[in-house]
Amino acid sequence: MESATPVIVAIDGPAGTGKSSTSKAVAAQLGLSYLDTGAQYRAITWWMVSNGIDIDDPSAIAAVAGKPEIVSGTDPEGPAITVDGVDVSAPIRTQEVSSKVSAVSAVPEVRARITELQRSIAASAEKGIVVEGRDIGTTVLPDADLKIFLTASPEARAARRSGELKGSDVHSTREALIKRDAADSSRKTSPLAKADDAVEVDTTELTLAQVIECVVTLVEEKRAGK
Ligand code: C5P
Repeated sequence: MESATPVIVAIDGPAGTGKSSTSKAVAAQLGLSYLDTGAQYRAITWWMVSNGIDIDDPSAIAAVAGKPEIVSGTDPEGPAITVDGVDVSAPIRTQEVSSKVSAVSAVPEVRARITELQRSIAASAEKGIVVEGRDIGTTVLPDADLKIFLTASPEARAARRSGELKGSDVHSTREALIKRDAADSSRKTSPLAKADDAVEVDTTELTLAQVIECVVTLVEEKRAGK
C-alpha cells in the first residue's frame, strides 16, 4: 500500500483469539512493522524466573523491574526478542512463563517500564505499526488510528491454543486460559479491556484468512479516509 502517513493499528484481546497470527499477517501484507507486547511481558517474566525473583512478591518484582534490557524486533516475518542480549523467543513460550506472566505484568512498575518501551517503538515505526496486546487501545496508544478487539468463545480459544502447543489437552488449556484472562482482566493497572472506540471482531466462526481480510479492509478504509 502506498501511503506516506504512518498508520497505527492496535489489536487487543485475550489469548487464543488469533491475535498474533492476525497481527503478523496484517503487518506483512500492508508493509507495516509489528510489535508483540505479550512477548515483552513474557521476556521480563522469564528474566525474573531466571534470576530467582519471588513472583509472589510484587515489591521484589518492582524493585528490579528496570534491570533487564529488553529489545524487540519489529519484522512481522521474523519477530525477535532478546533480554540482555540473549535470544529468548523459545523460552518465553514455556508453560512456566505462561503461568507466571499475569502476576509479573500486574505490577505497576513493570507496566510503566514496558509501556514506555512500546510507545517509543511505535513512535519510531516510519511506515506505521500493528501493535498487539491487552491494553494497547486503552492505555498504550489511545490515539491509534484503528483499534480492533478480537474475541472468541472459550472453547474455540482453547482448541486453537492446544493445536499450537502440540500434545497439550484442550481441557487443561481451557482452564489455564480462563485463569489467565481473569487475572489480566481484574488487575488494577491497565487491565485487558476493549476501548470504547474499538471495533469488536468475534472470530469464533471465522477462519484465520477471514479475520486477516477483515482487519486489512478496516485498515485500508481508515487510510482511504485520512
Ligand atoms: O499475548 P500473550 O498471551 O503472549 O501475553 C502474555 C501475557 O502478557 C498476558 O497474559 C498478560 O498478562 C500480559 N500482557 C499484558 N499487556 C499486554 C500484553 C500482554 O499485560 N499489552
